[in-house]
Order: sequence, then C-alpha cells, then structure tokens
Amino acid sequence: MIPIARRRSTGRRRRLRGRAASLEGIPLHPTHAGRAKSGDIPYVRELDFTYGEAAQVSPLIRRVIAPNASVFTFHGTGTYIVGRGHVAIIDAGPDLAGHVDALLAAVRGETVTHLIVTHTHIDHSPATRHVKAATGAESYGFGPHGGGEGPAVEEGADRDFMPDHRLDDGAVIAGAGWTLEAVHTPGHTSNHLCFALREEGALFSGDHVMGWSTTVVSPPDGDMGAYMVSLEKLTARAEGTYWPTHGPPIPRPRRFVGKLLGHRRRRESEVLACVADGTETIPELVEKLYVGLDRRLHPAAARTVLAHLIHLVGSGRAACDGTPAEDSRYRAT
Ligand SMILES: [Zn+2]
Repeated sequence: MIPIARRRSTGRRRRLRGRAASLEGIPLHPTHAGRAKSGDIPYVRELDFTYGEAAQVSPLIRRVIAPNASVFTFHGTGTYIVGRGHVAIIDAGPDLAGHVDALLAAVRGETVTHLIVTHTHIDHSPATRHVKAATGAESYGFGPHGGGEGPAVEEGADRDFMPDHRLDDGAVIAGAGWTLEAVHTPGHTSNHLCFALREEGALFSGDHVMGWSTTVVSPPDGDMGAYMVSLEKLTARAEGTYWPTHGPPIPRPRRFVGKLLGHRRRRESEVLACVADGTETIPELVEKLYVGLDRRLHPAAARTVLAHLIHLVGSGRAACDGTPAEDSRYRAT
C-alpha cells in the first residue's frame, strides 16, 4: 500500500465513485429504467488510487491505472502486473505514452515474460506493442478483433492487434509463482478472455464483469446470447474475487454474476413484453425501457436493445422482416 504521507504530498490521489450514467454500463439500473427492483445489482465503485502509480493490491497483483477516464472506462484502464521478478502484464491499455512509461517504471529491474490481452478494445490492447518493443515480451490473446463493423457507441475496436500466441479456452500460462488459466467469455466481444489466477483464487474479468456498471453488448461483435452463456459459465467457477479492468475488485462474485444474469433476463422479458404490446421499433423501446436516461446514451441503449432482439429472434420468441437491425420492425411470435 502507498503510505498515507505520500498520498497527501502528491495531492493527486483520487477517490472516485461511479457516476450514475455511463456507457460501458448503460444504466439498466432501476434509477433510470424505472422497472427493475431497487438495489438490483450490488455495484462496487469506490476506489482509492493515483494515476500512474503501481499499487500492490494483493500478494501477487499490482495495478497501474491509466488516465483515460471516460463514460466508457470509469476512471480509466486498470493494467495488472502479476508476479514479482518475472511478471505477466494483463491489458497494457490505451495508446498513451505516459501510461506505457508508468508500466515500464513499475517493472524496472524485473523481466516481463507475457503480455496478456483480455480483448481488443482501444482501452485494453494498443499499448501492448509499445511494452513489447521495450521489453521483448510476447503477446497472448484469443485472436484479432472479430465480428463486423458496428456504430461506435463504446470504446472502439483495436483492429491492429494480433497476438503472438493464441489462447483457447482452458489454456494455461505459468510463470514464477503464478498460474493463469484463460476462460473464453464471448459476449462483450467475441474474443474476450477472462484469466483465473490459481494461486489467489481470483479472476481477471476484463470487461465481461465489472463492479461499477453493466457491460455494453453491441452487435455485431457483441452478442447477448453468448454474453449470458458466458455469465453462466462463471457461476460454475469457484473464484472468490474478480479484478475487472475498470473499477475496484468485486467481492462475492458469484452472487454478483447471478444478479447480472437476473438483470439481463428481466430486461429481455421487458423487451419481449413491450414488443407483444405492439411497440415495434427500437427507438420506441428505448423510450419505454430507459425512462429518464441521458439522451446522449440512447444510441448505446439502442445497441443493447438490438442485442436482446437478435437473441429473441434467434430463439424464436420474436420476429422481424429480414435480418434484425436497428431500423427493423419487431413483433412477438
Ligand atoms: Zn471493452
């Protein structure tokens, strides 16, 4: 931990709480949606940190937070350094020279053996090549960015990233005193991986599960059906702490994931009920389901509703003419 005296002398230490409206979590939250039960998801948002400083957050984990705060990234990207001496770096982060410098300073005198990427959004993977150039470490990830082009309603895709080593579900990477198991969790992106740190019974959950908000699922690369299956997959695992890329660690993660799943299922039922009532278009569904939502977030809400409708059409519960799109007209079956 960083000494108190230093906190005071720098004057840069931040204690942040989540903002009510965010994109990397469209607030499908009772305050905004008006339908779900209050206190639905037990968000965790408070975090004490200093940009650019490596904080020891567990025996094997250090975290450096990049100064790329936004409505998508909360306070910024949390880059994790795993181990000591011979280390892995998870999500080197955005293409910001200051953040790369901070990471290199944090591991000075150590050897970086693995550069691991949870998924290819521009707040996660682009700095990998800079850290690779400086350290010679090779990169590991599921693969390049998948899917097609969609409108930019969240942090964009990094289409330049190609891992040196591809990891499938269950792949294991080990270093000095640490072992990471890749868990394929498509949904937020098709190439999303979480990583279980066996020695600490912890899981690096990337953007798949975040404590500060729900996750954007934007088609075509985002897939709501896959996302829910990937949540279910985590409920069968035993890890006791999740370390998301944005925000503080999540205690009691299985309960948290259960709440997220319940929330998505409820939202899907609401979308279906509205369609059955004769609400045919996505803009009308957004108006009905996201009462009070900041209008700047309506485009992202529309992508999430589309993701639900694709899932409903795919499972035969709703229909539309042609391929489900944002301007389609929907009906119940
Ligand atoms: Zn992301």
